[in-house]
Order: sequence, then structure tokens, then C-alpha cells
Amino acid sequence: PCSRSAESLGRGTGVVPLSRPTFELPSRTSLRTAGQSLKEVFTPTVRLGVTGLSRAGKTVFITALVRNLMIGGRLPFFTPEAEGRLRDCILEPQPDDAVPRFDYESHLARLAADPPDWPESTRRISELRLSLGFRPRDVIRRTLGLDRLHIDIVDYPGEWLIDLGLLEQTFAEWSRDALRKANAPHRAALSAEWRAFAEQASGVPDAEQAAIEGARKFTAYLAAAKASEHGVGCLTPGRFLMSGDLAGSPLLTFFPLDLAALPETAATSLHRLLEKRFDSYKREVVKPFFRNHFLKLDRQVVLIDVLGALSRGPESVSDLEEALTSVLSAFRPGANSWLSSLYGRRIDRVLFAATKADHISRASHDRLEAILMALTQRAVGRVTSAGGDVRVMALAALRATREAEVRRGAEPLPCIAGIPMPGEVVAGQVFDGKREAVIFPGDLPSDPLAALAHPGRELSGSAATFVRFRPPRLVPALGFGEPAPTPHIRLDRALDYLIGDWLP
Ligand code: GDP
Repeated sequence: PCSRSAESLGRGTGVVPLSRPTFELPSRTSLRTAGQSLKEVFTPTVRLGVTGLSRAGKTVFITALVRNLMIGGRLPFFTPEAEGRLRDCILEPQPDDAVPRFDYESHLARLAADPPDWPESTRRISELRLSLGFRPRDVIRRTLGLDRLHIDIVDYPGEWLIDLGLLEQTFAEWSRDALRKANAPHRAALSAEWRAFAEQASGVPDAEQAAIEGARKFTAYLAAAKASEHGVGCLTPGRFLMSGDLAGSPLLTFFPLDLAALPETAATSLHRLLEKRFDSYKREVVKPFFRNHFLKLDRQVVLIDVLGALSRGPESVSDLEEALTSVLSAFRPGANSWLSSLYGRRIDRVLFAATKADHISRASHDRLEAILMALTQRAVGRVTSAGGDVRVMALAALRATREAEVRRGAEPLPCIAGIPMPGEVVAGQVFDGKREAVIFPGDLPSDPLAALAHPGRELSGSAATFVRFRPPRLVPALGFGEPAPTPHIRLDRALDYLIGDWLP
């Protein structure tokens, strides 16, 4: 694969000026710089999208991935590394001026602090360019010096991806769907204040004020639903929860209206205003995101906190399933005429990764994968039939626990040991951020369908999936010695699938 980096055209050091014909022989230096520029032009760029709902683990994944590539040494299943062909990895200036840079240094600083802490989570789109130097297998490539790859990592909230579904909906259809979700038993109390307001909002004389107040209450309900214990859901519009740079914009000033409750003829000014804003949101927010960012990706990893959903119970799992179906519809050209008209050759590999696998013991990792596979099966089938290659994996980008064995009588119990963050409660004990806890996380069932039918049962009584463990120490004690690569589970396999073939 080789998509030439348009950004790199003309970059590099001093291209030989072509304005005036010259008959002098080019100097050795000018030949070398011209060669450098040519090499830049031929340096391929792979654009890797990293997404997932909030707190799925995007920031940690990217930080750990970059750190491991830069330091090297702990990626045995990343083929180029295993073959000893990786030479160097450097950060390059961010290529897209309109997109904020992924703040790798700050995230790493949090992890490298004493005591280590987790970085701040993703709230908007950001991007980072890595440049990997490698030794090509192929002699011709080696001779031509085609030995670099740019990797543009694009981090964006999965909430924005779910918005794709809005493109297929009218305001009336979206309103119906949003009201159905707001009335669901586990959300009814959270949405009560907004629903009470919305019921009488059509009577408010100033439509703009009603829109502002209604949008505020609707947003508060969405945020509460998200924060609640069931909150993995598929709640739209995505920007109401992850506004990026749009906070306070009229584009976010609308809410669903119960049109069935309005009299037949009641095309009220509020109704017209909300419908117009909904259409503007689709046109000005959703479409540009897909056109300018999503459709330019070559590879995509979707991170999913499956363990979190399983341990929270059935509503959470069905919310997750619904969210996944929405996310997956983005990879399914044909169903949506607008999208299919734009769909081209891009994203050819998608990885669905269940994150935080260090919260369960090794014996359960394959089972976690099987559960994610079952969850995404229908949708994965669609993506595969569309020509893309899809894989499912369980991983921990940054392993915060280790395996431990505890004996209960004669029976050995596979446990995990880690330091819970300050204030975390395990079996009634409050932890101080220094002491280690050994926890039996429970076994995931061998039958994934059983796990989905009765989520929480196998993990219930286990605090492991809820506990936030302290991240591992990245710098050696007292600051002596080489910085250690970050421990992980299967991050190297994920990397191999996502970009291994770009390093031939
Ligand atoms: P984002 O919202 O998708 O960017 O999520 P983050 O990357 O900020 O992760 C959210 C939280 O999940 C972190 O603060 C950690 O507590 C936890 N987390 C993420 N990845 C891992 C992991 O690999 N292992 C463990 N134990 N916890 C993780």
C-alpha cells in the first residue's frame, strides 16, 4: 500500500530552485537535498483512526502505542520489531493545521509522574504524526532508500461516529427515537425534568429562548444518562456530550419534540426552529466530520469497554449493542446513499478491541474476545461483505495489574493484583493509592451467548471490573536507568494487524 503524502510535497530541506535554467552541473549537496525531497514525496502515510465511546481507553491506547514504538523492546508480536527491522521512531510536526495535536507529552507526563496517574481523556478530535524508520525486506526498496513510513494517528470520540445515523433520519424520526430512549425505565427519572419542559415548550412565546432552555435541559439529561451506571448508550447528537469546539453554538441549540402530542396543524415556530437547527447540525457538523476526517482514514481501531458493560448488567449490554450497531453502520457503505456516494477505497481494515483486559485473568482473555465477536457478529458480517477486513481482539494498552494465584483450600484461584487508585473501594475496604489489592475477578463463561444473555452474573461479586488501578510506573525508581517500555496485553498484535503490512 502506498498513498503518497500530499503534505510532504515541497517539505524537506531546500528544493533546488527551478525558476531559471542553468547549465552548471548540480553540486553534490544539491543532489543530496533533491534526493531527500524525493524521498519525502515517496514516503507513504497511513492514517490510523482511533475511536470508541468516552472512557473506552483511546488516550491511553495512543499514548502507550507511541511510547512503545519510540522506546521499542516490548512488541514481540509486531512483525517488523520481531524481525529486528525497526530503526527509529520520531514525532513529526502535525500535518493538518486545522486539527489540534494529540498532546502526547502531557499524557505521558501524567503517566510518568510519581505516583503515576492516568492521562486526561479524549474530548475532541486530535492528531499526531509519527515517522517510523525501518529496514525494508526488499533489496530494491533498500537501494532506493524507501525506508520510512508516516503514521497519522487520528483520535476522535465515538460519539461523533454514532451521529452518522442522524443522516438517515428526519427531525420527526429522530425525535421519536430520542423520546423512546428517554422514556426507557433506566432513563425515565433522569429525563423527567427535560420531558416536563418539552411538553409545554410549544406554548412558550419566544421560540429561541425555549430552544436554549430545552437544549440545556436535554443536554443535562444526556450527560446524566451517560454518567449513570448504565451509561454506555447510543445517545445522539454526539456533540451534545462531546462538543469539541462547538460549545454554546446555535448548532447545538435544539432538542427532540414530541410531535405526536402536538395538534395536527401545529407547525409552531418552535417546531420550525428546532427542525431547522437539526438539519443544520447534520449539514454543518456531521457531514463535514465524515468528509474531512473519517473518509480519509486507511485503518480504524474501535475501542470498546466490554467488561464495563458486562459488569453493569443487561441494560448496559443492550445499550452497547445498539451503540456498536450505530458505529458499525459507518463502515457499511450502501445502506446510506449520502455516505455510499462518498465511500471510496479507504478504510480496508477495522479492529474492534475490548480494552482493559488486565482487569481479568489471562485465562479469560480469549473468552472476552469471543464475547466481543458475538456482540459485533451481525455488523462485522456487513463490514466484511463490503470488502473490508475485520478483526476482534481483547487487549490492555497499559497493563496496570499482574497475575496472581490465591489458594482456596486445595483449589488455586487465578487472581489479579494491582494498586487501586486512592479512594477506590474493594470488599468494603477503602484504598489509599499505595497498597496493593489481590482480587479474584471471576471467570467469563466459555459460551459468549450465555455471557450476553446474563451479563453481570459471572462478574458479579467481583470488584475487578469496576476498580480503577493505578497505572504502572514508567520511570525506574529514583529516576536511574533507562525508561522502561510500557507493559501491555496484545498491543503488539493490534499494531501488527493495523500497520504491519505497511512496513514491507
Ligand atoms: P478515552 O475517553 O477513550 O480517551 O479513555 P482513556 O484512555 O482516558 O481511558 C479512560 C480510563 O480507562 C483511564 O483513565 C483508565 O482508568 C482506564 N484505562 C484505559 N486503558 C486502560 C488499560 O489498558 N488498563 C487499565 N487497567 N485501565 C485502563
